[in-house]
Amino acid sequence: MARRKQVYEGKAKVLFEGPEPGTLVQYFKDDATAFNNKKKGTITGKGVLNNRISEYLMTKLEEIGIPTHFVRRLNMREQLVKEVEIIPVEVVVRNIAAGSISKRFAIPEGTRLPRSIIEYYYKSDQLDDPMVSEEHITGFGWAAIHEIDEMLNMSLRINDYLAGLFLGIGIRLVDFKVEFGRLFHENGDVQVVLADELSPDNMRLWDSKTNEKMDKDRFRRDLGQIEEAYQEVARRLGILPESGPTDPKGPSTLQ
Ligand code: UDP
Repeated sequence: MARRKQVYEGKAKVLFEGPEPGTLVQYFKDDATAFNNKKKGTITGKGVLNNRISEYLMTKLEEIGIPTHFVRRLNMREQLVKEVEIIPVEVVVRNIAAGSISKRFAIPEGTRLPRSIIEYYYKSDQLDDPMVSEEHITGFGWAAIHEIDEMLNMSLRINDYLAGLFLGIGIRLVDFKVEFGRLFHENGDVQVVLADELSPDNMRLWDSKTNEKMDKDRFRRDLGQIEEAYQEVARRLGILPESGPTDPKGPSTLQ
């Protein structure tokens, strides 16, 4: 495929112009960063796995009626997505205390939260993604009230669906981060859709029997066997990349 014009380079992905107007090609790198870029590394094969995992999860979410930017996977590291205007708010959903919430409120990691908790963070590397409230989001004009409602409702549905999906393959969905974008339709409608990616880079996934971490915490905390953990997530989902980029069947589910 001819090299396309790069429109954006992030920490784990690159966006290229897509083949048609209104589309982009999302390329998954093996680069890993943590602690706002202070820790950098490479996880061999991560991009290939995240491309597949994100394809699988976004496709499943579309099936239950969550609109997403995902169109189709193009090859091992690239997927075609709809061009959206990213809303600069990261939505974090937590089921079990871990990471920053454990630190902030001195809750031991692994404590089940009384109910799923939603947090918003302003997407800004310079500011280290500060936590914000709805007041900040509307006051500073990052999103309108109805858009926050849509992001909140979709995030809770995503959580319910994914928590069940992962539990079925012996994995606990501890927490995750999602991003949304505005999709501008030709008739003038503006729709809030799930964007970015859904992968072990932005979720905490623990083996439900052993509590072993199967996500980016293995990189953040130098636990080793990072690629193996991502591969195990893909294996349990039934979507190992070995089936290849031209596999006509696409992802299949393990019995
Ligand atoms: N997360 C993310 N990107 C960020 C911050 C957090 O994908 O910039 C994800 C992270 O992987 C975890 C969840 O959001 O699944 C909650 O992260 P937390 O606030 O505990 O922050 P961390 O411990 O990662 O600094």
